[in-house]
Amino acid sequence: MAETLQLEIVTPERLVETDTVSEVQIPGKNGYLGILPGHAPLITELGVGEISYRADGMQYHVAVAWGFAEVLPDKVTILAEVAERAQDIDVERARKAQQRAEQRLHAASTDVDYGRALSALERANTRLQVAEENKK
Ligand code: ATP
Repeated sequence: MAETLQLEIVTPERLVETDTVSEVQIPGKNGYLGILPGHAPLITELGVGEISYRADGMQYHVAVAWGFAEVLPDKVTILAEVAERAQDIDVERARKAQQRAEQRLHAASTDVDYGRALSALERANTRLQVAEENKK
């Protein structure tokens, strides 16, 4: 059986990453999935979280939010609504987004859309975590 698979991460705007990987973890809507070469075909909805993969003995991280993943034995295609590689994340922007979302969540106001604030906080937290992972 092949020891690698092709990983492709795309958004409606751009090709974010393509690489030959030995394993990949995907944030499915109902939790993380670990994929090795030869995995049975499946399609899953993505949540908000981190794609981690191993290529040439190194670990890489990409922040993604929503969309779908198609898993084939030799290829994983991620069709994400938004995705950023760790090195492309603007940490200051993510910190500001995190602060804004936290302020909204703490404000006892009927004007606040809590679902939207919670979702923004989740994206910001993921970006900060992915940027941090990159430093390790
Ligand atoms: P913000 O409030 O800072 O715009 P957001 O979570 O609302 O954050 P999204 O709607 O998820 O932003 O994304 C809009 C676009 O901006 C996407 O192309 C996304 O990849 C990019 N983006 C958002 N935040 C960052 C960041 N911290 N670093 C790099 N790109 C980012």
